[in-house]
Amino acid sequence: MAIFTPSARSFLSAALLVITPLYSAASDEVNIYSARQESLIKPLLERFTEQTGAKVNLVTGKGDALLTRLKSEGMNSPADVLLTVDAGRLYRAQEANVLQAIKSDELNSLIPGHLRSSDNQWYGLSVRARVIVYAKDRVQASQLSTYEALADPEWRGKICVRSSSNIYNQSLVAGMIASQGMMKTEGWLKGFVGNFARPPAGGDRDQIKAVASGQCDIAVVNSYYLGGMILSEDQAQQTAASKVALFWPNQKDRGTHVNISGAGITKSAKNVQLAEQLIVFLAANGSQEWYAERNNEFPVREAVAVSSVLESWGPFVADKLNVSELGRNNSAAIMAMDRAGWK
Ligand code: FE
Repeated sequence: MAIFTPSARSFLSAALLVITPLYSAASDEVNIYSARQESLIKPLLERFTEQTGAKVNLVTGKGDALLTRLKSEGMNSPADVLLTVDAGRLYRAQEANVLQAIKSDELNSLIPGHLRSSDNQWYGLSVRARVIVYAKDRVQASQLSTYEALADPEWRGKICVRSSSNIYNQSLVAGMIASQGMMKTEGWLKGFVGNFARPPAGGDRDQIKAVASGQCDIAVVNSYYLGGMILSEDQAQQTAASKVALFWPNQKDRGTHVNISGAGITKSAKNVQLAEQLIVFLAANGSQEWYAERNNEFPVREAVAVSSVLESWGPFVADKLNVSELGRNNSAAIMAMDRAGWK
């Protein structure tokens, strides 16, 4: 199990200044299809251009739409790199045959084995945890323990979570299938879905707001949404965030479910070497610190500092399951969620 120990505070500007040039200048271009908001990645890409002289062209879109586009463009696609979120989605890209394997000792040493595809088709660049958020005035941390325990009758009518069409939930269930098997997961789903306070609606931030407003007592969400609300300039989001607390599930067994955002090189890439340089750059310490802090996520290596908000949540044990398993079990997870009536 990996333990994230937030030891040092990182500062945005400092993080950018300490990046050491990795490569000599090359006059070339690399094209990225990115499912991340431009502001979450562009400053890093500009830094890459400064260091290498390479021009980076960024196309931003929704994860599933970008994959559809890559598939239809085939070998004519101008994309060199696909940058997207969730191992489930990276696995879909791998299955759709739009990525190519890269043999890079550098990437293999920078990115832990469980955070990349087993056949080197994609690499994790940030880690996100799916956690329990609870109402501070109605729930004690001592009542919480594991995802499994959220199926207990004590939570009847008290849980908020987004729809089963959301890949974060599919990956959570896929991870449970990998560790607990289908039988146990089916049983869990029945109890968990039976405890919903309302039919699933909205995104993770909406679930946090629903806990804050008393519609439910607990929610299962990605931790960076809570981080984003804590740091939000919107007073309503800040207030909602202040009414809830974060709980790390499964600390005494397999660890909290984690997922990644990551990147792979497309099969159609015209500039494989530069594409690889870019992914190495994103995996290096300076980029990791900035990228994780900007997104309120965790770096892929424990040694890299995390943001002050993340530090305030304390260290946690993360599930060491290979994230490829989340993709491999995705269809089984969707079918099981459907059978359990998770809308
Ligand atoms: Fe998200």
